[in-house]
Amino acid sequence: MNISHTLENLHQEEETFRDSVGTMDKTGKRKWVFPRKPKGKYTTKRNYTSYVLLFIFFVLPFVKINGNPFLLINIIDRQFFIAGQPFYPQDFYILALAAVLSVIFIMIFTVVFGRLFCGWLCPQTIFMESVFRKIEYWIEGDRNKQMKLERQAWDSEKIKKRALKWSVFLLISIVISHIMFMYIVGYNAVIRIMTEGPAQHPANFVTMIIFTGIFYFVFAWLREQVCTLICPYGRLQGVLIDKKTINVLYDFKRGEGRAKWRKDEDRKAAGKGDCIDCQQCVVVCPTGIDIRNGQQLECINCTACIDACDEVMVKVGLPKGLIRYATEAEIEKQEKFKFTNRMKVSAFVLLLLLGFSGFLFQDRGSMEAKFIKPAGSTYISHDGKITNTFTYTFLNKSYKDQSVTVKVLKPQHGEISSPNGNIMKIKGNQMLKGNVNISLPEHEIKFYKQNVELGVFDKDGKLLDSYQTVFEGPYKIQL
Ligand code: SF4
Ligand code: SF4
Repeated sequence: MNISHTLENLHQEEETFRDSVGTMDKTGKRKWVFPRKPKGKYTTKRNYTSYVLLFIFFVLPFVKINGNPFLLINIIDRQFFIAGQPFYPQDFYILALAAVLSVIFIMIFTVVFGRLFCGWLCPQTIFMESVFRKIEYWIEGDRNKQMKLERQAWDSEKIKKRALKWSVFLLISIVISHIMFMYIVGYNAVIRIMTEGPAQHPANFVTMIIFTGIFYFVFAWLREQVCTLICPYGRLQGVLIDKKTINVLYDFKRGEGRAKWRKDEDRKAAGKGDCIDCQQCVVVCPTGIDIRNGQQLECINCTACIDACDEVMVKVGLPKGLIRYATEAEIEKQEKFKFTNRMKVSAFVLLLLLGFSGFLFQDRGSMEAKFIKPAGSTYISHDGKITNTFTYTFLNKSYKDQSVTVKVLKPQHGEISSPNGNIMKIKGNQMLKGNVNISLPEHEIKFYKQNVELGVFDKDGKLLDSYQTVFEGPYKIQL
């Protein structure tokens, strides 16, 4: 095969791999993947990344900021905390906006950086490759030993190893489900449920069993099928990536003309490419694909094939990087990876999006106030003043207790009185309801119904929130 073999030619000749999923045979039966244990520069870096992320996952439910959980998504009791900040139904527009920004973020990120997230940050990859797979290697050994064990009859060794593996998997699934449950109801509640037992909390107990079952099923059996067949983000890759997207790619220009290694042979002179067809990149792949077939949806950019190929290249004395992070355009032009202007601009836009989300997050204010006239109430006219009663609702979004006063911002000369005094005390993250009377001089009233603006001030005189409401006056005054 000539070294000038192009990608187009490769596609014409080998396009059949796109007609099937790498982990299924022709009858549609699952082909179990036994990836070889990866090792190398990228694997080490990915291991460290996953240890940090796993540490965060296990520790975060116990972290509190000013007494609030760092992260709590309690859909049942409608309690939401993000970075220790309480979120109320009133704040959900921020979350909706943040969701829209996230979609834009993901799209730009994927167009430029490909599936970096899948390989380095996705919880499925982290748990699968850094927890469950490692346990499998520990109990059953590397690829060849696992394959041998799979073929062997159910003798005492196989029963012992499989029983141990499945028990450890189950144990870890139980731990993960408990931690996940802590993100929903809080760690105090989970510990209480555990101590009081299933008889007291049958619904929670069933939920935990379902959670555990799902985790066990996903990591013990479903595995790479989540990435290759189920994950919607994986499905999106086809429309988001282009020739300028960074991905784990095989340098077909350098590698093709693949042929077995022969010591002391001048491969160039013999018209051979750098790929020695050793299959190490294939046997190491956790999704069971051959990266040499080009960009594929199944590739989660886990970098295992980069490490495997680099190791081979070093052994045979060829330059590393036959499989590497690159764009298709770079490989076609045989250029080195560059941080292009497109990447710089995209990274800048991504940072802007992150900054804007952070700004929205911080700009929620520490107080939300509402003044509503009770149904059926009217005005009182006395001593040259018109008085309306309003029901107020104050939501203290901060951790601190606050003492607030209410003032009429518009029109001028408005007065406030409250049956409970003019200083209202609200505990941190709590809501306070009550009544206030607002009085305006009759000469300020221009319409039967007119707008008034009320402000809520903290004890230092800082305006925390304002609210426009409708003030009712005598009908005869209407102009
Ligand atoms: S590991 Fe490298 S040399 Fe071996 S088959 Fe894969 S691409 Fe070719
Ligand atoms: S092709 Fe390489 S990067 Fe992609 S999933 Fe397989 S081993 Fe990982």
